Amino acid sequence: MIKANNPDLESWIEVSVDSDFPIQNIPFGVATFKNGKTHCATRIGDVVIDLYELAGLGYLDNIGIDDLRVFKQPLLNDFIACGKAAWSVTRERISELFQKDNLTLNEADIDQSVFMHATSEVTMQMPVKIGDYTDFYSSIEHATNVGTMFRDPDNALFPNWKHLPVGYHGRSSSIVISGTNIHRPMGQTKPNDADVPVYGPTRLFDFELEMAFIVGKSTKLGDQISTEDAEDSIFGMVVFNDLSARDIQRWEYVPLGPFLAKNFGSIISPWIVTLEALDPFRVDTPTQDPEVLPYLKYTGKKSYDIHLEVLVQPENGSENKVCHSNFKYMYWNMAQQLAHHTVNGCNVNVGDMMASGTISGPTPESYGSMLELSWKGTKPLKLSDGSERKFILDNDTIIMRGYCKNNVVRIGFGDCITKVLPAK
Ligand code: CA
Repeated sequence: MIKANNPDLESWIEVSVDSDFPIQNIPFGVATFKNGKTHCATRIGDVVIDLYELAGLGYLDNIGIDDLRVFKQPLLNDFIACGKAAWSVTRERISELFQKDNLTLNEADIDQSVFMHATSEVTMQMPVKIGDYTDFYSSIEHATNVGTMFRDPDNALFPNWKHLPVGYHGRSSSIVISGTNIHRPMGQTKPNDADVPVYGPTRLFDFELEMAFIVGKSTKLGDQISTEDAEDSIFGMVVFNDLSARDIQRWEYVPLGPFLAKNFGSIISPWIVTLEALDPFRVDTPTQDPEVLPYLKYTGKKSYDIHLEVLVQPENGSENKVCHSNFKYMYWNMAQQLAHHTVNGCNVNVGDMMASGTISGPTPESYGSMLELSWKGTKPLKLSDGSERKFILDNDTIIMRGYCKNNVVRIGFGDCITKVLPAK
């Protein structure tokens, strides 16, 4: 067992039972502290730990990385580039320092305020500089639902869908940290009864419940990553809300795919949870039939049991859970996505982000977008304040949460939140 994942571990920092951040998590993020400084950080319970300050005091010595340099950065890229062994050793050291029976940092003469901060006193930042961003389309339920609504229920999936993980190149500039609010986008749409397109705010504002992984190892142009090696090239995961304008999308997407309907804002949860921390929650992926080509075959449990939920909160209203899904429903796993992405020699870089595509499950309450939940607006959802939603309205807040849970440990990602502001 990975030492830092031992379910028996407890921290001397208090952690409530429903916290996403027990000592077995040790995620990585970037935080701005009260003194205005921005450094790499981790979190236990409701305490954010400044890794640069910890390194400055010598507590991260001898873990095989240039700790002062990498943790001083306002981005995790340099740390991630240190490689999988370094991620693991760093987690283990942090785990040791904060275990209940270790008094190194919990003695009266230690000024904990140098490196420990209440979550309420820090501002989380984008944790990585994202180089390239790719969005897949890997949920069979989602692809089937969308194909059924927009094309033909009898041929909902295109012929390629079960043979390769369909994806497209997106834009990294508009991927933002949780808490960033997004204006309703303007754009071109073509109403059904119109002969020519019109310009205006999208009327069909939607979310897409996704997860994304962060590439942890660069490759050279021409190199491939095998499914067997793929997980060594993945640093960790975040919850990802891929905001979408369905009416803009429907008009613009032929023949090259989504463009402005998808790049006006995507929100990520603030803490990157390492694959190592998720390891106890591995599960099998769905059986793939027909059999895939050899380069997409894999062995072992390649998915993760991650509960996902979406809540919609009207202004001055309460949270309404509109979706409960799970990452394990994904037809294509991350190893296959990375193997496919590089099969042609396309190089990837540390910090690249790859999103799963909308994660819908088999039942209507597990659909990962308003498009599916309201079935193109034909089945409005009732909220607790009596109002209805076909799509997202101005001043609605969208909250996504993800967590793994077994009998002893809960590992979560923290909230992924955005509020939809009126069009500019
Ligand atoms: Ca998407």
